[in-house]
Amino acid sequence: EMSEESGPARASSKKPSEPAIFISVDRLPEIQDSRLRLPVLAEEQVIMEAVRENSFVVLCGETGSGKTTQVPQFLYEAGYASGTGIIGVTEPRRVAAVSMSHRVAKEMNLSTRVVSYQIRYEGNVTSDTKIKFMTDGVLLKEIQKDFLLQRYSVIIIDEAHERSVYTDILIGLLSRIVPLRNKKGLPMKLIVMSATLRVEDFTENRKLFPTPPPVIKVEARQFPVSVHFNKRTPLEDYTGEVFHKTCKIHRMLPPGGILVFLTGQAEVHSVCRRLRRAFPFRRATDYSDEMKKFKKAKHKRTSLPRIDLDNYSALPVDEGDEDRLAGIDDEGSDLELGDDAADTEEKADPSLPLYVLPLYSLLAPEQQAKVFQPPPHGTRLCVVATNVAETSLTIPGIKYVVDCGRVKKRFYDRVTGVSSFKVSWTSQASANQRAGRSGRTEPGHCYRLYSSAVFGDFSLFSEAEITRRPVEDLVLQMKDLNIDKVVNFPFPTTPSAEALVAAEQLLVSLGALEEPPRTGRVKEMERARLSCPISPLGRAMASFPVSPRYAKMLALGKQQDCLPYVIAVVAAMTVREIFEDLDRPAGSEDESSKLAQRRARLAQMRRLWAGQGASLLLGDLMVLLGAVGACEFAGCTLKFCEENGLRYKAMLEIRRLRGQLTNAGVDLRVKCLLTEVGVQVVCLRQIVLAGLGDHLARRVQQEELLDPKWRNGYKTPLLDEPVYIHPSSALFKTLPQFVVYQEVLETTKMYMRGVSAVEPEWVPQLLTQYCHFGSPLETPSPWLCASTGRVKCHCTSTFFRCGWQLPAIEM
Ligand code: ADP
Ligand code: MG
Repeated sequence: EMSEESGPARASSKKPSEPAIFISVDRLPEIQDSRLRLPVLAEEQVIMEAVRENSFVVLCGETGSGKTTQVPQFLYEAGYASGTGIIGVTEPRRVAAVSMSHRVAKEMNLSTRVVSYQIRYEGNVTSDTKIKFMTDGVLLKEIQKDFLLQRYSVIIIDEAHERSVYTDILIGLLSRIVPLRNKKGLPMKLIVMSATLRVEDFTENRKLFPTPPPVIKVEARQFPVSVHFNKRTPLEDYTGEVFHKTCKIHRMLPPGGILVFLTGQAEVHSVCRRLRRAFPFRRATDYSDEMKKFKKAKHKRTSLPRIDLDNYSALPVDEGDEDRLAGIDDEGSDLELGDDAADTEEKADPSLPLYVLPLYSLLAPEQQAKVFQPPPHGTRLCVVATNVAETSLTIPGIKYVVDCGRVKKRFYDRVTGVSSFKVSWTSQASANQRAGRSGRTEPGHCYRLYSSAVFGDFSLFSEAEITRRPVEDLVLQMKDLNIDKVVNFPFPTTPSAEALVAAEQLLVSLGALEEPPRTGRVKEMERARLSCPISPLGRAMASFPVSPRYAKMLALGKQQDCLPYVIAVVAAMTVREIFEDLDRPAGSEDESSKLAQRRARLAQMRRLWAGQGASLLLGDLMVLLGAVGACEFAGCTLKFCEENGLRYKAMLEIRRLRGQLTNAGVDLRVKCLLTEVGVQVVCLRQIVLAGLGDHLARRVQQEELLDPKWRNGYKTPLLDEPVYIHPSSALFKTLPQFVVYQEVLETTKMYMRGVSAVEPEWVPQLLTQYCHFGSPLETPSPWLCASTGRVKCHCTSTFFRCGWQLPAIEM
């Protein structure tokens, strides 16, 4: 399929980015027709001329105008992939990388060997690849291997308006890489594509681009959208409200697809289930594709992907977009449906089949692809989505949008260091973007399940992710690129100085960065404190696709020869919510006794996984390890997971991450030797302590028990309030003197999650960065060590943030 381009390819190989040739593409007539309708096609000349004459170009246009699918084709046809370099396109979401690569291959009538994708776990890139779609995290990793990105002649950063952290950093890095390439005579282009009109963060940032890059705007045809607000805003059961509104639209309104916006996978599935029950239509079970994939993966056990291909933290934070939509009326229209009464029971109605499809980031690609196909004859399409459908994917034939107005975001609490996903209101820009999804092919309607007053209180735009999350992983990645002064990096939006300092300090404590000098002039020390170079340990850590605390555990696991166990623990810790929620309230009397039975059984299962004796001290992490081991042993089946209170999706995710962290050829089954081999448990506990050092907690001592609330409580370095071991924890009855925890979660009380016991004497040995040591001169009885000939003594030590007395250690 490559024959048509082999001739001109050679002719242009001298100057890969200034080609004067045209590579022909053999498209099918129907594809050609639909392309011609895309607004971006009218701008092809303007775009290509701007690209030819500038190193940086910004392209913005309404979602669905054809940016993602067409611009890579323009570049291909203009010969940008015919020399030594290829065309790279980054997406913040895995869904988009996969489905766009398939779409472009299809449009160009080329095989996926030529138009390929690479995401965290998988890809189909070959030596013939000319257009490569990838997640932004994948490209960042490639920069670490080859700073000049010599494989590429053009990089397109797509969906820049999403302001994902990796996208921001890539733009910063490429603003330096492109001039370097040009200087070396290996010209390169950067095209930043965005759905929003608010591109000033990129274009007006002189640190980023000294001369403003040209901005090309693509005007899309947009039909008017009538927006209908609710009179009141449901606060609790908005998924119920979404369900009822969707039913009503399906019953009462003329044909046209429905697109529903919810916040997460669980909600999507629950609403899909209810809709399918209300309007039955035969379809395959949800997990069949996952199972097929798993079975395939099982046979390929010996050829698991290697560590280097990753995109770990690019897990989408299903988040808002910053676009404004023309043509939204205010309230009211003849299609007003009115607010729903909350509890009308929907009876199954097979006479009105609804073709219900879920859509979210982690959905298997085959499932995702279904939304682009026309629904079966005689049915109405209804896509229930997270905000993947907001800008990354354009679903054809949508006439109605149902918007819950909420979005799931990761929140990070600087005090507790806890990050959590919370559902909150979206932004106005995002809500307008959602509404606009309904006016692509004809006038549309958007039903907002909140009042116009609530809408007025939404923030105008969503914030850049980088300002809302800890940045230690980014700082480590940048130091690995030898960018020591991270403060000076040309971020499109700079993270707060406070966040940068905290990150640098944590990395120094973990030993990932060289320690700054402790003596010298104050100003110089300050400066050195913010530009510590990476250490050899840091380099090892940076090669793992997990955040630095966990990367340190992996690095130590490798050193201590217990990597498979550490990988299992780390994978389980980094995947959220692996256990079924046992605290959920029961619906009815009958259900409540069943639930109690199930709780008891699952608690017993967890006790079994926690083991006995030495292994018990690894606490909740031993439970994780036991669960992972047992599940893997049982073949990681849906049945096993359901019976044992494990979330199947989470277990599959753990499995994939373990595969990725494990070099090819290693058997994924954890042999449960740990219960017998106490030494390994001690080793694991120490490794966990070394990674989570700043999450040390000490049980409240007798003399501190003035206030009864401190009973069975623990003190932590950062919180004034006590934290507790949860009743479901493996260590609830043990109450060790020192513990480390994965995170603190506030429910009825502040509970530690992922608790593991620590021996006090390990603290001064493993967490030297956090400890103060007494002067050796103060110690009473130094002695001579016969074997080394060195003078030794006992040094007193304290945990410096809190002044906790720790055992003296030999020095
Ligand atoms: P943009 O990037 O500007 O948002 P896209 O290039 O993603 O626009 O989409 C252009 C058009 O291609 C849209 O009308 C969309 O519906 C269509 N399209 C994209 N992917 C597919 C697909 N897999 N199948 C059918 N149509 C698709
Ligand atoms: Mg796009």
